[in-house]
Amino acid sequence: MRMTESYIPTLREVPAEAELISHQYMLRAGLIRKSAAGIYTYLPLGLRVLHKIMNIIREEMNKAGGQEILLPIMQPAELWHETGRWDDYGEEMFKLADRNQRQFCLGPTHEEIVTALVRIDVRSYKQLPIRLYQIQNKYRDEIRPRFGVIRGREFIMKDLYSFDRDEAGLEKSYQLMYDAYSRIFSRCGLQTCPVEADSGAIGGDTTHEFMVLGDAGEALIVYCQDCDYAANVEQAECLYQKPEKAALHPLKEIPTPNVSTIEELTAYLDISPSRFIKTMIFLADNKPIAVLIGGNHKINEIKLQKAVNCTKLELADPATIETVTNAPVGYAGPVGLQIPIIVDYSAAGIVNGISGANKEDTHLANINFERDYIPTKVVDIREAQAGDPCVRCGGTLQTARGTEVGQVFKLGTKYSIPLEAKFLDENGKEKPLIMGCYGIGVSRTMAAIIEQHHDEDGICWPVSVAPYQTVIVPVNYEDEKQRQTADHLYKLLTESGIETVLDDRKERAGVKFKDADLIGYPIRITIGPRQLKEGNVEITVRESKEQIVVPVAEVHNQLLTLLS
Ligand code: ATP
Ligand code: MG
Repeated sequence: MRMTESYIPTLREVPAEAELISHQYMLRAGLIRKSAAGIYTYLPLGLRVLHKIMNIIREEMNKAGGQEILLPIMQPAELWHETGRWDDYGEEMFKLADRNQRQFCLGPTHEEIVTALVRIDVRSYKQLPIRLYQIQNKYRDEIRPRFGVIRGREFIMKDLYSFDRDEAGLEKSYQLMYDAYSRIFSRCGLQTCPVEADSGAIGGDTTHEFMVLGDAGEALIVYCQDCDYAANVEQAECLYQKPEKAALHPLKEIPTPNVSTIEELTAYLDISPSRFIKTMIFLADNKPIAVLIGGNHKINEIKLQKAVNCTKLELADPATIETVTNAPVGYAGPVGLQIPIIVDYSAAGIVNGISGANKEDTHLANINFERDYIPTKVVDIREAQAGDPCVRCGGTLQTARGTEVGQVFKLGTKYSIPLEAKFLDENGKEKPLIMGCYGIGVSRTMAAIIEQHHDEDGICWPVSVAPYQTVIVPVNYEDEKQRQTADHLYKLLTESGIETVLDDRKERAGVKFKDADLIGYPIRITIGPRQLKEGNVEITVRESKEQIVVPVAEVHNQLLTLLS
């Protein structure tokens, strides 16, 4: 492609709205333009990168037994009512109605519609397994669309759905996808780390997220220094630790006028937060429950919600807290409470602990588990943190931030039972299909690649996903000799299948170099008067900045070596 015939609007200035480097470079290199919050246009270069990523994904999905289909974006509400997700999915779903008031949504994900497809055509175990995938736009009305295409409201996803006859089949499909994902990301030049995760609104039990580690990530991950355990904190398990051995002291009221937060209390009483039993009142499906946790820990609401098995969980309002505890907010404690008491392992292990006395300006000291309050449930509901022991090997956990680029789920029968997607087994017995689903954020992957491959001058695309593999920059295209060499190389390389850009603009060399670095072509061929006198040109490798001078006649061979 000739630059003079291209649409590559690069920007000199860093756009004010872009916080993350990938977002800045995607705008500056002319890959995307914003249309509305979380909604983007892909310009020619951006689209080329997307297509490269999609092709890698397609190859690996096909190799793993996937077949590509294209499901509708607009999905009828009826199907979502059948699984209950029309209401459960919440405000993230874009809903619309047709002229006859029939309800639809813009697909945030496609489990319902693909299951409804398969239930029509599949009758027998002989047709299984089936693995169908598509690459398509998804719509989610994210509360906080941000970081450019990393969290969009319209984004591109590859989603594959597997249908098997039994758990063993699902296990095989899951493993095939897991391995394909590892290959896809590595072929895209991305280093990823698979972590155990929570399955959220998609459902199912076993699930792994593929994370790109980096400080820009929105997810918090714990990983073990000594074994390969890694999990999203939403999911990470914490171990039960035996209470310390100490004599139990009698309960004692302590006056704490106007002191109610843990910070104020630790300062006021001059003791460590680990002695406190934090008592929080939640509404689980609108019924109050008390939740106890060690003063130096945070509640993980996802684990809590699972532990109490409710669909709606929220912190109680002040009026409820006052009714339940008979005291102003800030003085809740377990002793004497008449509501279910859910106790985290960390609180169960506290001997002679301190908590609110359910009485204004008063706390209770020497509270002991089971002696002074009866727990309804003792469970793991806290957020894992650095320094915790690993649940697998007892080693020490560390934390890191990550961006999720893909996720694989074992769904089981979560969709096939309500949607009645069944098959007949060898004995003619009717059974529900066993499902899995597997997503990759294609547009997010593009941004993640930039996060891992850039420097202060711009993007450094891995060859596999670069918009073009090489750029030819004549220092002065008006110069007869330079132009002839540039045109010759451009023709030669293009015809041999190397994706080449010729920067034939009437710009200063500096401007052309800056754009080449910003856009991040893996290789630049510079044609300057000095080298050319000797019949040479200069080849620069973008990522390593390595430069070599080669005779014009050897450029093609050099490039083949460098690109492979
Ligand atoms: P997140 O936790 O980041 O919101 P998710 O777990 O809701 O993502 P999935 O339903 O697992 O997302 O979707 C599969 C993949 O789609 C994700 O791994 C991610 O790469 C991508 N993805 C999800 N939401 C978005 C979004 N708003 N913008 C861009 N990509 C997204
Ligand atoms: Mg996910």
